[in-house]
Amino acid sequence: MSDRYSRQTIIPEIGEKGQRILKNSVVAIVGCGGLGTNVAEILVRAGVGTLILVEYDTVELSNLQRQTLYEEADIGKPKADALALHLRRIDSDAGLVIIKERIDEDGVGLLDDADLLLDCTDNLRTRLVLNGYALKAKKRMVFCSAQGMNGMLYVVDPAKKARACLACILSGRKPFKTPGETGVLGTTVRMAASLQATEAIKLLLEQPYTDGLISFDVWKPRLDTLKVMKRKDCAACGRHR
Ligand SMILES: [Zn+2]
Repeated sequence: MSDRYSRQTIIPEIGEKGQRILKNSVVAIVGCGGLGTNVAEILVRAGVGTLILVEYDTVELSNLQRQTLYEEADIGKPKADALALHLRRIDSDAGLVIIKERIDEDGVGLLDDADLLLDCTDNLRTRLVLNGYALKAKKRMVFCSAQGMNGMLYVVDPAKKARACLACILSGRKPFKTPGETGVLGTTVRMAASLQATEAIKLLLEQPYTDGLISFDVWKPRLDTLKVMKRKDCAACGRHR
C-alpha cells in the first residue's frame, strides 16, 4: 500500500482490507460530463484501481462551469482523453480504460470487465440500455441524475429479484431534461457525484447500500430517501419481459 493510504488516512469503515479491495476493483463510468468527471476524481483519489471511462463527446467552454478537471486548454479535445490525462496527474498508477463511443445495445459488451456500473449519462435511452445490460450481466449499477438544484440516485441490484430496476422507476416519467437544457448548479452536481461515489464505495466493499431512491434539493437544502416499488409489468425486469 503506498504512502498515500497510510494508516492515519484510512477510516475504519474502509480499513486496510477495504483499501486493497478498492485497488483491485474495476468501475465503469458511463458519461464523462458533470457527474462522471466528479465521480472519477473522487474514486481515483479514494484508491479505486481501474476506471473504464466512456464518453464520445468533446470538451466545450460551457462545460467548465460544472465538469471538474477540464480546463480551457482542453476545449475541443475528446473528454475521455482529457479526463484520463488529468486523473493520471492525480495518481500515475491509476488504471484507466478509455472508450470513446456512445454506448448502445451493440456496444454495451465493452463494459464486461467492470465490477460496477455508474450511470453518469444525461439521456434516458442510454440509461435504459445500461439498466438492461446490468440485469442481464448481473452487475450492480448506481443511477444518478442532476438538474437545477435537484438530484436523485438509486442502486440497481439484479441479485435481488423483488427490487425495482431503473425501468420500473422511470417508465411513464417524462424524460429528464439534460443539464444543457435546464442548467444545473455546480454544487448540485458535486453533491450528486459525492453521494453516487459513496454508494459505489459501499457496493465495492459489500457493505449495505441505500435501499430507496435518494432525492435531494441542494438549495433548501433537503434530502429524502423514497421507497420505490417493482412493477410486475416492467419491460426490463417484469415477469413477461
Ligand atoms: Zn423493472
